[in-house]
Amino acid sequence: MSGARLSVDLGRFRANLRELRRRAAPAEAMLVVKCDAYGHGLDRMVAAAAAEGVRWFGAFDSATAVRVRKVTGDGARIFAWVTMTDDELTRAAQASVTLGVGDAGYLERIAAVSRGRAMPVHLKIDTGLHRSGIRPEAWGGFVTRAAELEAAGEIRVDGVWSHIAEVSDRDDDIARAAFRDAVSIAEAAGLTPAVRHLAASAAGAARPGFRFDLVRFGAFAYGIRSAGAPSPDGIVPAATLLAPVIEIGERAVTVGVGTLDGLPATLAGCFDVGTPAGPRRLLRIDRVTSTVRPWPGVAIGDEVAVWGPGALGEPSPTDLAETIGTVGEEVMVRLSPLVPREYRVRRPPGRG
Ligand SMILES: *Cc1c(COP(=O)(O)O)cnc(C)c1O
Repeated sequence: MSGARLSVDLGRFRANLRELRRRAAPAEAMLVVKCDAYGHGLDRMVAAAAAEGVRWFGAFDSATAVRVRKVTGDGARIFAWVTMTDDELTRAAQASVTLGVGDAGYLERIAAVSRGRAMPVHLKIDTGLHRSGIRPEAWGGFVTRAAELEAAGEIRVDGVWSHIAEVSDRDDDIARAAFRDAVSIAEAAGLTPAVRHLAASAAGAARPGFRFDLVRFGAFAYGIRSAGAPSPDGIVPAATLLAPVIEIGERAVTVGVGTLDGLPATLAGCFDVGTPAGPRRLLRIDRVTSTVRPWPGVAIGDEVAVWGPGALGEPSPTDLAETIGTVGEEVMVRLSPLVPREYRVRRPPGRG
């Protein structure tokens, strides 16, 4: 491979989590760990978050949920919202996973797999994104059926949830009103959903009325800000993508990172990497190497920072994403799993 590595600072990650938990309180903070914890490596991020006191993990799918359970043991609550096969459901039940359910047929399948296990579910209302979730006109019938299945001991309705776009406050406000109506209707049907959750990073960090009982934090936990918006105070990228200097020429320094590592070729010429002498333009991107404008005193084995918190003058993942019209998460999850993840364990300041 090219020699690039992703250095993850668990101290910075934990400081992000502390800031987000502080903002969300008294609501709880869920750490969303889909896509291998946004490319950071699932196991270490889950362990660090659990040590920081995070109790909820958003796993997306069954396999991830089971892996999270292996790391956390019994204490944590794990939420998975993709529709699963019956085999996956059985494994999820064994790992005490809470299931997000936004489809009537899926609710019936869960009840059938349950065999009296009262599987914990959070029912999803579609508040306008039209991706998944029960449409408002079908919600009344859906929660009535859920109450029957709960009375029969097949499911336990612990929560009601939805997902919002977090692009316009106005659309989010409309979604929030629809969400509150849905919770009232569920309660009128005899359900007692104790965990209501609607917001992901952006609304959860900025808008108190959107926090309800739980906020699902993905991007901000890893320090990835939203495109087109400043980083919230106290939120810093946890990971730095580093590439070693492997050849030094008059006009260009070759560094070990390329498109095979997941660096988008369209970024060539568009940004400065961080070097020991400050920012220098990244000139071209090949398969396993790239070239950078030289700096005084450059030596083989020096490392440049392709993205990170900015310590060497490098851009953040979202800075890069904005130059090619995508989002910071995309830059992170495109990083090849073959790039080694390394972890710096530094306790965040201010804790005994
Ligand atoms: C990915 C995801 C999140 C986290 O979103 P961020 O914007 O990264 O915080 C929350 N909820 C659901 C349902 C998701 O799919």
